[in-house]
Amino acid sequence: MLDGQQGSGVTSPPGHVVCNVGHLPTAHDEDLRATVRSSLDIMNELSEGDLDSHGATPGFMANLLCVLPKPGMRRPLLHPGWQSVKEVNLSVWTDEQAAASWYRKSHAHANIVADHQQGRLRTFGNLLLTLKPTKVVRQRRCRACAAVAEGLFTDRCPRCSAPTFELPAF
Ligand SMILES: [Zn+2]
Repeated sequence: MLDGQQGSGVTSPPGHVVCNVGHLPTAHDEDLRATVRSSLDIMNELSEGDLDSHGATPGFMANLLCVLPKPGMRRPLLHPGWQSVKEVNLSVWTDEQAAASWYRKSHAHANIVADHQQGRLRTFGNLLLTLKPTKVVRQRRCRACAAVAEGLFTDRCPRCSAPTFELPAF
């Protein structure tokens, strides 16, 4: 998980989500290594690459990678014995233009796309979706009475006025 825009004061709601669900049907070791390495390279670029004056990638809010193995019936001694692996990668942006601008410049993204298209990945297939939020609701929780407080910056409970737990932008 990588949070973007920390400390930048940007409060835009999420407006564009890139969702890539990768499937490695045999839990192929080299494909798994290459795709996870690529995701980590991408997160490094997002956190250390072409940053704005606030030290953030413009428009980037968060990136979440989940690696979900399907366990096998047998478990060999020196191998996890996975039947397959799913990789769910969510990349959250303020808007489509910011995402497109970043993807056009990313070396790490270009490298894994080239591996994918030129057959260096041997088993990896994927579902690529771009998602547009239809509603954004942020709810904080009261530290004292556990009531819900609507809003990203609602730091006092509407019921008892106690402080609420903080909530990150994503
Ligand atoms: Zn309360």
